[in-house]
Amino acid sequence: MNYKILKNSILGARFEKDKDYTIVGAGIAGLLLGFYLKKAGASFRIVEKSSRAGGLLSTHIDEFGITETAANGFLLCSEMEELCKKLDLTLKPANKSAKKRFLVRDGVCKQNPLKMTEMLRTSFKLVFSRANQFKTTKEFGHTLLGEPFTKQVMEPGFQGIYGAYLDELSFPGAMTTVAKILNQSSYLPLALIKNKRKETNKSTSLKKGTHSFEKGMQELTSKLAYHLREHIAYEADGLDIGTWENLILTTPAFVSSNFFEGSLKQLLNRVKYSPIISCTVIYKREDLNQFKDGFGCLIPRSEEMNSLGILFNNCIFKNRTVDKDHLSLTAILRSDDENQIIDRMDVDIKNLVHADVNKLFDATSQPQNYYVFKWENGIPLYSPELYNNWFKMDELLKKEYQDIRLFGNYTGEISIRGMCEMAAKWVG
Ligand SMILES: Cc1cc2nc3c(=O)[nH]c(=O)nc-3n(C[C@H](O)[C@H](O)[C@H](O)COP(=O)(O)OP(=O)(O)OC[C@H]3O[C@@H](n4cnc5c(N)ncnc54)[C@H](O)[C@@H]3O)c2cc1C
Repeated sequence: MNYKILKNSILGARFEKDKDYTIVGAGIAGLLLGFYLKKAGASFRIVEKSSRAGGLLSTHIDEFGITETAANGFLLCSEMEELCKKLDLTLKPANKSAKKRFLVRDGVCKQNPLKMTEMLRTSFKLVFSRANQFKTTKEFGHTLLGEPFTKQVMEPGFQGIYGAYLDELSFPGAMTTVAKILNQSSYLPLALIKNKRKETNKSTSLKKGTHSFEKGMQELTSKLAYHLREHIAYEADGLDIGTWENLILTTPAFVSSNFFEGSLKQLLNRVKYSPIISCTVIYKREDLNQFKDGFGCLIPRSEEMNSLGILFNNCIFKNRTVDKDHLSLTAILRSDDENQIIDRMDVDIKNLVHADVNKLFDATSQPQNYYVFKWENGIPLYSPELYNNWFKMDELLKKEYQDIRLFGNYTGEISIRGMCEMAAKWVG
């Protein structure tokens, strides 16, 4: 196949060590980039509009335990491992009890939601199908894996990461690794074997899986902010800084659009975001009759529940609740024109989540406490349009705005791990 793949999710001109950079935004993208610029001995400053670093990421700690406002962890990679070592941060791997991951089918959490006949249909599809030039993740799923797997496994999985349905997501944009693999052969099993050979040739001692820190994700943003303290100016709006030379904009697309005129402004204003709500509910363990330990559960659209998925926080990481008698669950919900969840009161959102928890685990009582974090522009929509626009934006920047680069969760890597890998690679 012939999928175009971005070399780096930092769009625009290459890194040049002798330049004096200004990073706009001290969310995780700006902080990670700052870390690697400092490591390379480059000259830079970070301007952050608010009075704190971290953007979407922060951790709330109270008498019930630890609650994250957005990401609860990240997948480890060698760059994140190296960064944590340098910052003297102790990584906390997920517990063994988090190995079990559930998918919901007919209101029940199952490790394998597929029936025997459906598994056979999936294998048959995989063996006998050839790839096309897929536009969406749904086309990929239906063609190479069949409808049952796509609906019961892929759709809830992608909703959990991208907060969007498969037909809304670009195949090469949201499944870049698989698109790269299919560039080697349009026959997926063969492409996978070729890729596996390459992977086994790379020796790695890396610990894998989801990681966080004893006191949550804020340990990471706080340590990064402290490490970069001499470079960060708080309560400084990037739009007011005067010079627009050697800027790296790590602000959301609709903020970054203000730095441009014409086509680039339009392209940035076309980046759509899904409004996302993270709702953490604290229950007494004894009040959830059917609860099972695990990482969490993902919920397909066909189940007609309110949540896209629910994380079982204290099964993933120890000390997320003050004692073992409590359970902390975080549900992720997506607001749309129909349900308008984002406009509802916190207590109503808690009731929506409680209804799901009750269906899944037979709750005998309401939660003891709850926290709701609403993100109007929570997760960028990795649509086929956005995927095409990455290449246009990259080209326009290189031609017309050599002094400005774009980087953030909408430029090709949505996860903390992905952004860290890209920041490290860019600085080289
Ligand atoms: C509910 C939820 C759960 C998630 N879970 C995970 C997970 O488990 N693992 C994972 O890897 N990822 C997860 N993500 C994704 C990840 O958290 C985000 O992609 C990431 O935090 C975004 O970082 P960012 O720096 O790109 O943007 P932001 O965090 O939005 O940072 C942008 C920064 O720019 C600043 N800013 C804005 N305007 C200006 C201006 N004019 N001048 C100066 N500064 C400005 C803002 O104040 C902010 O600090 C999750 C996201 C959500 C919403």
